[in-house]
Amino acid sequence: MKPETNDTKVQAASGIAEEKMKTAAVVLAAGQGSRMQTAVAKQFLDLDGKPVIFYALNTFEESSVDRVVLVAGADEIEFCQKEIVEKYGFSKVCAVVAGGKERYHSVYAGLCALEEYLFPDGIVLIHDGARPLVEQTLIEETIAAAEKWGAAVVAVPVKDTIKIADQEQFATQTLDRSTLWQMQTPQTFSYPLIRRAYDRLLSDEQFQVGVTDDAMVAECMAAARVKLVNGSYENIKVTTPEDMAIAAGFLQRRKEA
Ligand code: C5P
Repeated sequence: MKPETNDTKVQAASGIAEEKMKTAAVVLAAGQGSRMQTAVAKQFLDLDGKPVIFYALNTFEESSVDRVVLVAGADEIEFCQKEIVEKYGFSKVCAVVAGGKERYHSVYAGLCALEEYLFPDGIVLIHDGARPLVEQTLIEETIAAAEKWGAAVVAVPVKDTIKIADQEQFATQTLDRSTLWQMQTPQTFSYPLIRRAYDRLLSDEQFQVGVTDDAMVAECMAAARVKLVNGSYENIKVTTPEDMAIAAGFLQRRKEA
């Protein structure tokens, strides 16, 4: 039989022709995260009987997002495929791919992998797998905002005063708190915009210094205006040991609600 050649179909790895989709997510689960001080990476720690990464994948599974690419450490691909994707039946996960040394390497691997599943002008959400408490409303709100503005990220106003310190840990400057926002994920973009930005980032090492989020890549590499969407103080990134207890508390409260 002649294979599909129109641009709304792609040939999936299984050989089955698959529809191209409008929205897809890159969920990040690579990296070791030394601040947790555990042998197991934070995204695989046990949180109320399931690995941390389960929760974000489950929320994406229930959202309007069409496909998910999971990015894992090169040695954890098989584990993720069998013990996470297959075990919990995440049908939207179309690929598990190897991440890289830095977060931006992992994002780029995910963006390249989902190219074949997405319309050229599709929308992509980039999410830290270490943020288990992301809610579906945030996912839908960033998609709507990215459709309108091209780039939209979940963020919350900072609650504490933020100061710049010198190398000897003396405060040198107090920033105007009323203008400061703390970035979270999902960070959501039109695919061509974020792909162009990441292609440029990866083209030259001098661009790669101090990259900590995708909004920054879109701003610096593609001159994008990034819209901030009101996030949730519950959407924490599990980073240090006490974050596990905080996340467990939020989960418990949701169960009881
Ligand atoms: O280490 P950090 O807190 O910045 O990690 C944020 C997210 O990025 C986590 O979900 C982690 O799994 C992911 N990450 C990644 N590849 C890396 C570093 C971090 O996928 N090299």
